Amino acid sequence: MTATLYAPEDWQVKAACRGQPAAIFFAPTHFERKETRVARERQAKAVCATCPVRRECLEYALRIREPHGIWGGLNESERREIAS
Ligand code: SF4
Repeated sequence: MTATLYAPEDWQVKAACRGQPAAIFFAPTHFERKETRVARERQAKAVCATCPVRRECLEYALRIREPHGIWGGLNESERREIAS
């Protein structure tokens, strides 16, 4: 039996993004054109808009200063704006 190294927080089991491709929530490792990023983020934010734990997700991302991806319906720069 292997030990679990990652224990999700309670709210994460209710996340609307469970089962969704991570590729819409996180930028690719290669260059991404602005139009592609905007479309990708719009898709991710549409999922977040239906999420019952959006507030908890955003608070978590702000607390740990998550530098990447869409969390709580906000991208990296939008989170930096409200954190400053
Ligand atoms: S707010 Fe968005 S990123 Fe956060 S758990 Fe919900 S669907 Fe996932």
